[in-house]
Amino acid sequence: MENTKKQGNLANPLILQSELYEYILATSVYPREPEPLKELRKATATQPLAHFGTSPDAGQLIAMFLKIVNAKKTIEVGVFTGYSLLLTALTIPDDGKITAIDVDRTKYEIGLPIIQKAGVEHKINFIESQALPVLDELLQDPKNEGSFDFAFVDADKVNYWNYHERMTKLVKVGGIIIYDNTLWGGYVALSEEDVPEKKRAWRQSTIEFNNSISSDSRVEISHASVGDGVLICRRIC
Ligand code: SAH
Ligand code: CA
Repeated sequence: MENTKKQGNLANPLILQSELYEYILATSVYPREPEPLKELRKATATQPLAHFGTSPDAGQLIAMFLKIVNAKKTIEVGVFTGYSLLLTALTIPDDGKITAIDVDRTKYEIGLPIIQKAGVEHKINFIESQALPVLDELLQDPKNEGSFDFAFVDADKVNYWNYHERMTKLVKVGGIIIYDNTLWGGYVALSEEDVPEKKRAWRQSTIEFNNSISSDSRVEISHASVGDGVLICRRIC
């Protein structure tokens, strides 16, 4: 059985370091994690920012949603070494397409050989850029409105609301938008003085984002405490 200790995402005092989390990984996640994803996770583990990688239990939930909505055309903000990207590429059909945006291509190149070996690179359009201008450019063309089945947002937390404003136009009614790290290490539930100083600003922006989404009538939501927290939105209008 795989050692699950310290495999989680951020050092997360409330979610990720519990025995229950280790139980879920060992029982339900690792035995079913596709080989290329295991390989990519292991190749990423030696990276200084390895904790950026989407946690495998969140990945499993993302794959479930991709399947449920029959996602064919998807968009991803925040690629890093490509765990969530490869997961998406392995899940959507052979003629599916992923628009994947990240400011830094060098990390993507760490995972790329594994993506190529898995035979799914043809589904990926990687764009090295800040995400907001790319989303705005997509929205210049009315054909792109409501054309995506699924979006995964996992970069630049302070811009989550800006991404949301664009994603609720790009993703079709009935489509899914998933935001990662929305429980921010569990710190959203602690009072500010119990949170390390360097994590306070991001805790605050995550709290504000979660509150804004909670009162957004354009989407139905489910806030799941898998990985570092994923906020799942279904566009309803
Ligand atoms: N989903 C990835 C993890 C993403 S980590 C995985 O499963 O491994 C966050 C990524 O967002 C980093 O690679 C970083 O380069 C990228 N990023 C940060 N700010 C960004 C921005 N403004 N626009 C696009 N990408 C950004
Ligand atoms: Ca993440």
